[in-house]
Amino acid sequence: MTIQSSAERSLKALEMMKQGNLRFQQGLRSVEHFPTPSKLKILSEHGQKPFCIILSCADSRVPAEHLFDQGLGDLFVLRVAGNVIAPSLLASLEFAATQFDTPLVLVMGHSKCGAIQATINNVKTPAPLPSQNLTDLVDRIKPAVKKHVEKYANEPLLVDICGIENVHNTVKRIQEDSPIVQKLIAEKKLMIASAFFCLDTGVVEFEPVPESKVTKRA
Ligand SMILES: [Zn+2]
Repeated sequence: MTIQSSAERSLKALEMMKQGNLRFQQGLRSVEHFPTPSKLKILSEHGQKPFCIILSCADSRVPAEHLFDQGLGDLFVLRVAGNVIAPSLLASLEFAATQFDTPLVLVMGHSKCGAIQATINNVKTPAPLPSQNLTDLVDRIKPAVKKHVEKYANEPLLVDICGIENVHNTVKRIQEDSPIVQKLIAEKKLMIASAFFCLDTGVVEFEPVPESKVTKRA
């Protein structure tokens, strides 16, 4: 495969995600994407070839296959509260990218994220969290919150501004912490994109800018 066609695979995968979300917004569900035992059997026998690795929040309202109208075997889904990156998640991402030749990583945050709000609360009013595990999670989100919490202290959309910043921080961590990802990107075999999902509208905004939330309201 040439470098050119590798890059085209990434762009095509991104377009498939965009089109899938458009179908979701319209209340459509592709018949071919309904999960059935027979489709699973085919995937079991022939193996998987997911076209997108998605890292998103564990929130019950953010199920990737539904929001992007995709089916069994299409998406390699990593879900964790606050869509943070940690060694086991990065390892999962590296595994999929190398084993399945998946051309796209999509990091997606969402509006009204509980993990982001909990981190904002902890930054505004520092207090010990109930466990070391929760402390570790919040610590991974804190850089995004600390960047905006003073400037937008009274802004109702602070949680979304910080959420978008957190997506960009996660993308940066993936790029900086994984030599495997760096190599695949340099070879144009892998592309990383960022996105933000709005619970109220069902719309996924690709490549969101944190301050755009405030700009749009002005
Ligand atoms: Zn969330």
